[in-house]
Amino acid sequence: MSKLAGKTALVTGSSRGIGRATAVRLAAEGALVAVHYAENADGAEQTVKTIESDGGAAFAVRAVLGTSGGVQDLFHGLEEGLKERAGSAALDVLVNNAGTATMGTPFDQTSEEELDQLFAVNAQAPFLIAQRALAVMRDNGRIINISSGLTRVATPDQTAYAMTKGAIEQLTLHLAKLLAPRGITVNSVAPGITDNGNPVFGIPEVARQMAQLSAFKKVGDAADVASVIAFLASPDGRWVTGSFVDATGGTLLG
Ligand code: NAP
Repeated sequence: MSKLAGKTALVTGSSRGIGRATAVRLAAEGALVAVHYAENADGAEQTVKTIESDGGAAFAVRAVLGTSGGVQDLFHGLEEGLKERAGSAALDVLVNNAGTATMGTPFDQTSEEELDQLFAVNAQAPFLIAQRALAVMRDNGRIINISSGLTRVATPDQTAYAMTKGAIEQLTLHLAKLLAPRGITVNSVAPGITDNGNPVFGIPEVARQMAQLSAFKKVGDAADVASVIAFLASPDGRWVTGSFVDATGGTLLG
């Protein structure tokens, strides 16, 4: 597996969960990976160590998204890390994965502060990261925005979160058209319920209930979603752009 040999990738929010699995997978395919995190420095270091022990290359970058200057911090660390290791700041793959969610808030109890935070991290930051990334992205690059199956299934307590994911799907649609002349593809990947290491997945009764939602009657593994992202990031994904890719394990089949 060296489909990404010589390529560079940034995976936001790769200190754990789907982001970590994606960083590990892209590195296994040969990419030099920037492992972004906000607070969990140990988790990011663990991702980097896993990649290095598999023979890959990675480095960690800290930036708190949804805050003023967060995107600037991200690109400062990214460009410095890439220049040091690859000799240039050129980027081939951007995975806008970092996201925040609540356990669910009734519509009439959702505060303005909660809305602001969800939109700042899940919608505004990916927009600004993609915008800034264009300055360093090579032609034929890849942008993969992580959405959610919740944009297709009405879940009233997750209205605000689902709205942010609807926004990232719009980012995908319009950017795909804008960037096609450069051969850059832009796609959304929508996970369903995916084990991200949260202790809730270790509670047998809860895990059993969650598993029933997938057509395969299992909770997704982060690696299941990472495989879909890796396909879109690879040269094999060159003819797919502006697309919504269902990575919910058939949850949306009903
Ligand atoms: P997770 O385990 O909760 O990890 C979230 C990641 O995002 C962490 O690396 C975290 O960094 C980073 N992050 C959170 N807030 C941030 C902020 N303000 N600034 C910078 N980084 C921040 O995530 P996950 O469950 O794997 O989900 C990954 C993506 O898939 C998210 O976009 C999520 O909405 C989407 N998704 C997940 C599921 C699921 O069931 N897991 C389902 C549908 C969609 P730190 O660790 O450093 O704080």
